[in-house]
Amino acid sequence: MSYCFECPVMCGADRENGEVGVCCAGGCSFVARAARHYYEEPPISGTRGSGAIFFTGCNMRCVFCQNHEISRGLPEDTASARPVDAESLCDTMLRLQELGAHNINLVTPTPHVRLIERALPLAKARGLVIPIVCNTNGYERVETLKRLEGLIDIYLPDLKYVSPRLAERYSGRSDYFEFAGPAIKEMHRQVGCLELDGEGMAKRGLIVRHLVLPCAVDETRRVLDFIKAELPLETCISLMSQYTPIPGMKRPLDRRLTKAEYRRAKEYAVSLGFTNVFVQELSSAEKEFTPEFDGYFE
Ligand code: SF4
Repeated sequence: MSYCFECPVMCGADRENGEVGVCCAGGCSFVARAARHYYEEPPISGTRGSGAIFFTGCNMRCVFCQNHEISRGLPEDTASARPVDAESLCDTMLRLQELGAHNINLVTPTPHVRLIERALPLAKARGLVIPIVCNTNGYERVETLKRLEGLIDIYLPDLKYVSPRLAERYSGRSDYFEFAGPAIKEMHRQVGCLELDGEGMAKRGLIVRHLVLPCAVDETRRVLDFIKAELPLETCISLMSQYTPIPGMKRPLDRRLTKAEYRRAKEYAVSLGFTNVFVQELSSAEKEFTPEFDGYFE
């Protein structure tokens, strides 16, 4: 049976026979960029960069998506996108390792899990030894994640919202937290808290990302409350301030985060007792941190 039920959308697209799913992925997977990326968290990017492989398509529709060029629309219409199969994906991963990337960073991989399940064992058999990162929006089915157990070393999920109202308003998915909460617990079950090697690079574990949004520090508090209630206090959290409005955004998303909003978010994380929190400078909200999707394959 070829119907796709990989993610919580459960749209059942017959992708193997060419039907395109809600995520805009069809029978063939496409990659828009495969290159070393220097703007992830320090233990992911290090000095030599993270070997980021940006797949096209996405199962969410965040109004503020910085990767909208590749996350929406058919891959055939994305000028930079190249089709990949298990062999070529394997070659790409080995090439990034040869170039010195600290890890392989699979960005928005969920619609492509079947391909990844085939490509990773192939690449490992051919000498891929650097850690594999699953970089996801968090909107995942636990059943799908279980298939990745043993293949993924580091989970880097977003936890965007707890409230159905905000999840619907900004991402069109009122059930986001219903899935993201259990998914993040499953990721932690598989890989545990973040472990670093002797050079301070991530070798295994979970980093939960949360983007603080304008006028939504209360939502950040709900997210942090969930992490405190369900995961160990040493869970690594990346509290991001890099929200950048895209042209035409409506209030309150038409501006960047204020210093006061970000300070309140950080203070709340500290007050809950988290010991492992990455914070950003507000200057991180710059265009240069968003990769150009120009078909660049290193
Ligand atoms: S991964 Fe895409 S095609 Fe598959 S269920 Fe989700 S939205 Fe549908």
